[in-house]
Amino acid sequence: MGLLETRALDFEHLVILSMNDKIMPRKASGRTFIPDSLRHGFGLPYSNYREDLFSYYFYRMISRAKEVTLIHDARAGEGMRSGGMSRYLMQLRYLYGGGRMHYENHKFLLNPPENEARPVEKSDMVMRQLEEFTVRDSKRNLSASALRNYFQCQVKFYYENVQGIKSDPENSEYIDAIELGNIYHEVMFHLYFPEGSRNVYLDKPILVTEGMIDALLADREGLMRMVVRAINRLHFHRMASDLDAPVDGAAEIVAGHIADLVCDTLRYDRRLAPFRLLGGEISGIVEWPLRGSDRRVNIKYAIDRLDIVKGADGVERHRIVDYKTGDAHVKASSVDAIFGGEMSSKNLFQLMLYANLMNRDRGSDESVRLSIYQVSDILRSGEVVPQIGIPGDKRITYKPLYVHKDINEEFLETTDNILADIFDREKPFLPADDDESCRYCRISHLCGRNLS
Ligand code: SF4
Repeated sequence: MGLLETRALDFEHLVILSMNDKIMPRKASGRTFIPDSLRHGFGLPYSNYREDLFSYYFYRMISRAKEVTLIHDARAGEGMRSGGMSRYLMQLRYLYGGGRMHYENHKFLLNPPENEARPVEKSDMVMRQLEEFTVRDSKRNLSASALRNYFQCQVKFYYENVQGIKSDPENSEYIDAIELGNIYHEVMFHLYFPEGSRNVYLDKPILVTEGMIDALLADREGLMRMVVRAINRLHFHRMASDLDAPVDGAAEIVAGHIADLVCDTLRYDRRLAPFRLLGGEISGIVEWPLRGSDRRVNIKYAIDRLDIVKGADGVERHRIVDYKTGDAHVKASSVDAIFGGEMSSKNLFQLMLYANLMNRDRGSDESVRLSIYQVSDILRSGEVVPQIGIPGDKRITYKPLYVHKDINEEFLETTDNILADIFDREKPFLPADDDESCRYCRISHLCGRNLS
């Protein structure tokens, strides 16, 4: 209720807040070209008229009340305000002196909000949620990215990958980096794998020769058509009948860029030809035995490309290729560092895990080469082979990881321990111990860490 609404009303008990200078009464703000002397002379409202009016309203309002509580903010220098009390309060103090007025001073101890992220205890409910990952065909699977989340922050892993709380992806008007990557993947997939040979391990590998790549490179028009179809499907979400609709503006420029990236990849592959393709965009779910338990946890994988290529040593080996339109991130200072959540090795864990999952899924025991095609740089630098650090006296030296079996024993040991920890009731999910992991976290409101 404002002061004007109190006119003609009487109150028994009144509580009036903000009895501060410039609030009660408000600072007179009327501006006029007509000086006060003329205003007085001609009976016009003068500058203090409004204040006089409000002064009247205030005293009339309290005049019939039995009890009046007037509250003012006594903090000095709060923002732009002086913290002084209203002149009405001063006047009342002089008017009534001691006896009929009494004062109380209240202090509030405002503690800053808690900044501690809370661990998640493994309650019955949490354990039930975890158990779902051990049920065959439950559609609850762990993945390389979920486990990478776990390395960064176990609490984040719980909320995002166990509870399934995901922040909504932002729809972009333009083709963003993730979409560009998806479109590139689709084009590479369709180029190499004809209908009927997609998403499966091929019993009869596809032989890729220099001549075949030259033919693909010569058909720029066909390649552009393929890129446009992928853009229409993945970015514009067009129906199958509209996939050949031309794209223009920014999408047309991106289409040309993606076609260039695909050509660079083909030119690099030409250097390796002949080689055999064993499958593209293959995915599967493997039941991984949990150490110290008779249960198995579902872990899914998705391989961009599996082929058989002759290495520098002249030996033909299975190779998992992961296409990356961003950076490779396959350099780890040690095997332990692969599980440390470091950015520099984030894709190495995925490649190692996929090599193991693929072998288990196929019932094979191949020594698998791991490769990242960092496509923006592939013609200049070639494929990126993972590197693993060997600690020395003074510094770490890095050596290429030619096949996954070079470090697989240690890798499996740690992976088994981590999976056992996830399902261990006695071990709560712990928050990240450094703020770095929290910087772009979208669920800080759930864990309690205050990032402001
Ligand atoms: S804000 Fe930090 S501690 Fe909290 S969930 Fe995110 S990463 Fe973990």
